Amino acid sequence: MPALTRRRSDDPHRESWRVYYDGDVHIGSIGQRAGVPKTVDQWGWNVAFYPVSHRGIRENGTAQDLLEARAAFAAAWARIEPLVTDDDLLQHRRERTWTAWKYRMFDCGCRMPTQTASGRSTCFCGAEIDVVGTERHVYAEHMGMR
Ligand SMILES: [Zn+2]
Repeated sequence: MPALTRRRSDDPHRESWRVYYDGDVHIGSIGQRAGVPKTVDQWGWNVAFYPVSHRGIRENGTAQDLLEARAAFAAAWARIEPLVTDDDLLQHRRERTWTAWKYRMFDCGCRMPTQTASGRSTCFCGAEIDVVGTERHVYAEHMGMR
């Protein structure tokens, strides 16, 4: 089974970590809770990612410290991982690619084919795209972009 990796966020106000599965699938987070009294758990964690969270598969909780949060996260992931399919991972990566592509189109001032009267447009990469072929183009040429 692929390992989990943690990457620290660049939030200077509180320590938090994004947790990835299979290298690039962001499955959840562990971090210091904001705005809670000193008398309650200072850490929180969650395992929740598209598309499995849309099937109601997700968990979260609080912990006294990072070590306890990491252990609780690992226990939750041990319950959730067997429910995750290869198709879930593909859908997750496609959704991330599609979203990144849309933002790049917007940032580059490119219009979506759905925004033109002809239903045709030009991708930021220079390819001609149309309403019917846009998804095929994005997944064939830009899969993995962030
Ligand atoms: Zn393109």
